[in-house]
Amino acid sequence: MRYHGREVDVEGRMRLVMESTLTARDRVGVQDFVLLEKYNSEAAFIENLRRRFGENLVYTYIGSVLVSVNPYKELEMYSKQQMERYRGVSFYEISPHIYALADNTYRAMRTERKDQCIMISGESGAGKTEASKKILLYFAVTCPINEHMATLGDCLLQSNPVLEAFGNAKTFRNDNSSRFGKYMDVQFDFRGAPVGGHILNYLLEKSRVVHQNQGERNFHIFYQLLEGGDDDLLTTLALERNPQSYNYLVKGNCPRLSSVSDKKNWKVVMKALSVVGFTEEEVQKLLDIIASVLHLGNIQFGEGEEGETYITTETQMTNLAKLLGVDVSALGEALTHKKLTAKGEEMISALNFEQAMSTRDALAKAVYRRTFNWLVEKINQSLALKEEIYHSGKGCTVIGLLDIYGFEVLQHNSFEQFCINYCNEKLQQLFIELTLRSEQEEYETEGIAWETVQYFDNKIICDLIEEKHKGIISILDEECLRPGETCDVSLLEKLEDTLGGHPHFVTHKLANGKTRRIMSREEFRLLHYAGEVNYNVDGFLDKNNDLLNRNLKEVMCQSDNQILSHCFRRKEVADHRRPEMAATHFKNSLMKLMEILKSKEPSYVRCIKPNDAKQPGRFDEVLVRHQVKYLGLMENLRVRRAGFAYRRRFEAFLQRYKPLCPETWPNWHGGLADGVSTLVNHLGYNAEEYKLGRSKIFIRFPKTLFRTEDALEAK
Ligand code: ATP
Ligand code: MG
Repeated sequence: MRYHGREVDVEGRMRLVMESTLTARDRVGVQDFVLLEKYNSEAAFIENLRRRFGENLVYTYIGSVLVSVNPYKELEMYSKQQMERYRGVSFYEISPHIYALADNTYRAMRTERKDQCIMISGESGAGKTEASKKILLYFAVTCPINEHMATLGDCLLQSNPVLEAFGNAKTFRNDNSSRFGKYMDVQFDFRGAPVGGHILNYLLEKSRVVHQNQGERNFHIFYQLLEGGDDDLLTTLALERNPQSYNYLVKGNCPRLSSVSDKKNWKVVMKALSVVGFTEEEVQKLLDIIASVLHLGNIQFGEGEEGETYITTETQMTNLAKLLGVDVSALGEALTHKKLTAKGEEMISALNFEQAMSTRDALAKAVYRRTFNWLVEKINQSLALKEEIYHSGKGCTVIGLLDIYGFEVLQHNSFEQFCINYCNEKLQQLFIELTLRSEQEEYETEGIAWETVQYFDNKIICDLIEEKHKGIISILDEECLRPGETCDVSLLEKLEDTLGGHPHFVTHKLANGKTRRIMSREEFRLLHYAGEVNYNVDGFLDKNNDLLNRNLKEVMCQSDNQILSHCFRRKEVADHRRPEMAATHFKNSLMKLMEILKSKEPSYVRCIKPNDAKQPGRFDEVLVRHQVKYLGLMENLRVRRAGFAYRRRFEAFLQRYKPLCPETWPNWHGGLADGVSTLVNHLGYNAEEYKLGRSKIFIRFPKTLFRTEDALEAK
């Protein structure tokens, strides 16, 4: 645990006293779960969360981990004054807050000169993105400013509305759901001023561009453009204002949101684009692309007598080609024909109706995904650390922020959920490794014997997914490459052959040759650390293959829209090697992410969603219990409580409790360890109850601490 030995503000101190006295504890619970008497009881854990939630105390610690429950209403705790209150104050002297975590991380980076990272996890709608924005805002407001990079804070903050417009959408679970994973580095100079930033993005859910479930929407930007763009702009883009006119926007039957105004957000996004450094021309080109995706969705096909496919929507085609900056007949040809290379010879074959439709959708998805990547690249250029700072020789330190999709179990789970849940397995593994390691290190530096903790190591599941040759991803890739007829069902058979009998892999086939009736024949089940999930293999091969016909790429790389010609490179077409497949690409980018995270000092925010109705004041225990389980919070608490419930630096302990002992009051003049020893002897702690390390006192049971707190209160 980190302390930075500053004086504590009066309000903060009063708060701790209030929250730890008996009567108040009954009402508002404990501010750190390690103080729960029944720390092994899930019921006690949830009851503590519930009480605090009822009092608008949405944050609680497990040691240094911050647990946050989404209040679904604006609370007054995020003001500038509150930021000031948390500046430089030690973690435990003031009520738990996201600002405390941000501040603590920042101070640790400064004093220890070590890179930090904050990992935010939780299910969709639990408040991850809001938490990451609050942390960023805290830095922007409280950190000093480097005069060479005075606008960097604005740039960092304004990158959010841009990315949210293009990467977030209304889903069943969240009106502003991030449909991509995000890792952002903020770089600080030696004086602690933010001087640079860098964003990595993961697995944008591009299928949303062409299809949305009932009640869901496409990415916000489409609606913002139609609502907010002025008449001239829409005319230039040949767009109609009504979202219902576009096939790609009608699938979810949900053109408008009650909670946000697309019109207002359009202005916010346009302003943000200019703050982040997009030129007017770039914005124009970007909007051309967004409009072209809408037109693409309205391209229709007809079927000729001999089964050939042709385009029936001439006007849309003209508009589309103009906006994409490509030749209309070449585009038409590429949407209805496929170029194959067989034995070194090129052949053209006509696509059937179905194939033409899916080629059209594949183009829309590719254009959107690549444009999104370009957007991130462009933002990164604006946030890039200036050469002169980089070379100033004084070295920067970094705080990374990870806002990534939580464990996901839907009614129908597909390739996307498979990737997302794999990602969560990796993060859980890292979490276990790092928490255990830091606990162990602390015991060692304090000279206290390490007490072993029992925990479930999910490495076995990570291996099941990612192991070379034998893992699910390898088998999936092999199936994609296998010549001849492969289909999703043959993939399932292959998985069964290789993995049948693995303790975490299940299909409908039982070992005795019978079938498990409750599972369909297209599913496999993984027993994740967080629970069981059935995955339907339908679409796995296609999604993993993720191919775009070569002739379409050829057309696109001739585009005179600079963004598109940047996104579709000629060398990609010239290169006949097969690009990395989607799952492998994701696996490799996750490996890199793990390396980045491992090289930093971690902090955690675990977000919980209190109800499915997105409403304030409702605490659905069943839902919360589920999340407590799959966020691994009980496990986390057990590791943290393994030996001792509580630990404090000698000076902090002495400072707080010295009034309880005539020898330490008002001031202790000897060594710190002696002072603490004198104090606890006077308080009658027995040897069972505590241990003294090199700089900290470790208290085994919460009741010891409460007894002491109550004595202080009674004084
Ligand atoms: P997803 O995985 O879908 O992106 P998320 O975990 O990022 O979900 P957020 O978008 O951060 O979820 O939060 C969902 C909504 O909950 C927000 O739009 C906001 O209305 C509300 N919310 C979240 N955190 C807070 C908070 N601290 N105070 C008030 N409202 C909040
Ligand atoms: Mg989010």
